[in-house]
Amino acid sequence: MKLTKNLLGILRCPNCGDKAVSLEVKSDHLLCPVCNSAFPVVANRPVMLRYDNAVFQLEGYREPGEKKFKRSGGWIARLIPDPSVNLSRTRVLERLKTLLAANKPARVLIVGSGRQRSQMDMALGAGDGVQVICSDIDTDADVDLFCDGHDLPFINCSFDAVVTTVVLEHVLYPERVAAEIHRVLKPSGFLYSEMPFMQQVHEGAYDFTRYSLSGHRRLFNGFSELESGMVAGPATTLVWSIENFVLAFVSQPKLRLVVKALVRLAFAWLKHIDRFLEKRPEAMDGASCTYFLGTKMNGRVADDEIIARYVGAKHMSHV
Ligand SMILES: [Zn+2]
Repeated sequence: MKLTKNLLGILRCPNCGDKAVSLEVKSDHLLCPVCNSAFPVVANRPVMLRYDNAVFQLEGYREPGEKKFKRSGGWIARLIPDPSVNLSRTRVLERLKTLLAANKPARVLIVGSGRQRSQMDMALGAGDGVQVICSDIDTDADVDLFCDGHDLPFINCSFDAVVTTVVLEHVLYPERVAAEIHRVLKPSGFLYSEMPFMQQVHEGAYDFTRYSLSGHRRLFNGFSELESGMVAGPATTLVWSIENFVLAFVSQPKLRLVVKALVRLAFAWLKHIDRFLEKRPEAMDGASCTYFLGTKMNGRVADDEIIARYVGAKHMSHV
């Protein structure tokens, strides 16, 4: 067995947590010598899930090694325009890459990487003194290991940076995931997070919550802020709203796909208006998605500080 990245030195048993010791490598699994948990390794990717998690079964990861990473919907789906802009990611990841240059060799964890490996490798300069480790819970994801953000299977202070893009709305307990991200980062390690705000449900049953920029900031109050702002603004919100309004009248699944395609072809261009709205405080309260870039700190940012740094248009006081 050969793990896709040199992970063994930083892995820990998610069932044992702080009591964990080094895992033993067996022919087709990793073994925890403390609790005897066996974690299967599928196509060189360890499946590091807690045994008592209620949603995902370790057995579900025995087959997918040969699965190709298909985009659902095939070539027709690729013709449908994306309803969203992303005004921040390229620029902020470039800034993160520059920040990491002082820490080389640097290790970056992607929490909920999906199929973004090549995009993240390129954005963060993987290979040039930067190791990017992709993780996800989805059996279809292109990962170095499968794990659950609620119980990251890494020893404390393992990473120089963590990146998580539109993932935490899909987890059951975002504050627990935020605490785990904080734990696995080195002191002053970097976090880049994108989180939806004004967006409709987009992963069916696996879509639980939304955060305003202030809520996003508070979720990561264990971090000192470098910058935060808009990923996508009210124009993207509008495109999503038109689409969901029209789809509310259509129930047949194939017809919904056709209607969705037509709505996007007609209205997706509106999203580009966000480029003019990006810096307007008046636009922030209707943002489709926000971002946060920060560094791990000791202690917490006080709640009144988070309230004081509100950047929208509706300044008011309840005190
Ligand atoms: Zn264990």
